[in-house]
Amino acid sequence: MSAATEAIAEQELNPWIAAERRFNEAAERLAMDDGLRKVLRTPSREITVYIPVVLDDGRIEVFTGYRVQHSIARGPAKGGIRYAPDVSLEEVRALASWMTWKCAVVNIPFGGGKGGVICDPNVLSQGELERLTRRYTADLIEFLGPDKDVPAPDMNTNDQVMAWVMDTYSMHVRHTTTAVVTGKPLDLGGSRGRTEATGRGCMIVTQQALERFGLKPTDTSVVIQGFGNVGGMAARLMARAGFRIIAIIEYDGAVLNNKGLDIEALLLHRKETGSIRDFPGGTNVDRDEALYLECDVLLPAAKENVITSRTAPHLRCRILTEGANGPTTPEADRILEEKGIFVIPDILANAGGVTVSYFEWVQDRQGFFWNEDLVNTRLEEIMVGSFRDVVKYSAQHKVNNRTAAYMLALDRVAFAIKLRGLYA
Ligand code: NAD
Repeated sequence: MSAATEAIAEQELNPWIAAERRFNEAAERLAMDDGLRKVLRTPSREITVYIPVVLDDGRIEVFTGYRVQHSIARGPAKGGIRYAPDVSLEEVRALASWMTWKCAVVNIPFGGGKGGVICDPNVLSQGELERLTRRYTADLIEFLGPDKDVPAPDMNTNDQVMAWVMDTYSMHVRHTTTAVVTGKPLDLGGSRGRTEATGRGCMIVTQQALERFGLKPTDTSVVIQGFGNVGGMAARLMARAGFRIIAIIEYDGAVLNNKGLDIEALLLHRKETGSIRDFPGGTNVDRDEALYLECDVLLPAAKENVITSRTAPHLRCRILTEGANGPTTPEADRILEEKGIFVIPDILANAGGVTVSYFEWVQDRQGFFWNEDLVNTRLEEIMVGSFRDVVKYSAQHKVNNRTAAYMLALDRVAFAIKLRGLYA
């Protein structure tokens, strides 16, 4: 690969550049004034903390952590905390702005935030992770709170980490405050239906898209990349609803069955063998090839930057439901549009998770917990309503769904800022 091509590829894959491009396109189409653009583009606050932790062997290590609050115009900042060796302020900033737009698209009363700590959770013991989490939380204590900033799990953090954040915050404010984080264990104020919420949301918006093609779930073939929380749940729920899941793609291989995979059996096979490969109910296929299979729905639910200027020309799906965050680059958007693929953009398709996080926050504040049916019914109302809003906006403004979703989100946040006015 030449140096020039590498430079282009690197730019294409940069999440902050992608976020900026989408923002600029939507702001341009909205004819938003320059001042408001500056406000919306710039995060409200970026905090860097240096976290000293005593390791199990007695040595002291200092980790770097970030919390970016992109916007609090429509409510408290909302967004996950990730632990990974390659966390950077630029990445956290891009993810925080995505959260602002995502919460606005589904019209829930939150702004956007994100946090991260540069560390390798695979080499840290549980005790080290707990001390790291507690010190990170303590260093951010005045910036967090149910009315200020409400974190959630993200890459390499889970309900246990959220329980430590909640406990540390509660010890500082001297009373139990479950609403300071979401994605908690059920016994500590978590919500029913949260684990399934993102996958369920993907299924709901896909069902809405099917109506436009006159397809029923039973006529619909689906390829899913990623068999983790989002992809695994989407696969399980969609299979139960009658969809034909013809292929699952994982990091170590892919499995195909044109008649439809038995998802429960595949989950069991992966549990027993540690891999989806060599599943008796399907055939092993090349994972790059599997992305290009002819299908009605492709659901990338693994990682960012999967659909790029290189892969997009080969896709053979009718509907692209973006379960992952940022699976498609702006360069690929243009190609998808030319190919006439109906895209359900990430800030809409995977917003089921943050929507049920919102329900968790509401339930914690009320001290009254809903049954799973009520959670799922309310999730469906929001996802269906938001899908219709985006599609309507897209038709009205003659733009693709992604631009429509960004325009709708920017418009809502800008409206809140205008109503509030700029203080001082
Ligand atoms: P996860 O870690 O549970 O699952 C990801 C799966 O993808 C894993 O099984 C992993 O092995 C697989 N994978 C990794 N690289 C791959 C590759 N190159 N090819 C194929 N498979 C690969 O993570 P998750 O929570 O399911 O999140 C997946 C995506 O969805 C991420 O982009 C995340 O930001 C986004 N997301 C998650 C939620 C949520 O509620 N969990 C909400 C919104 C968005």
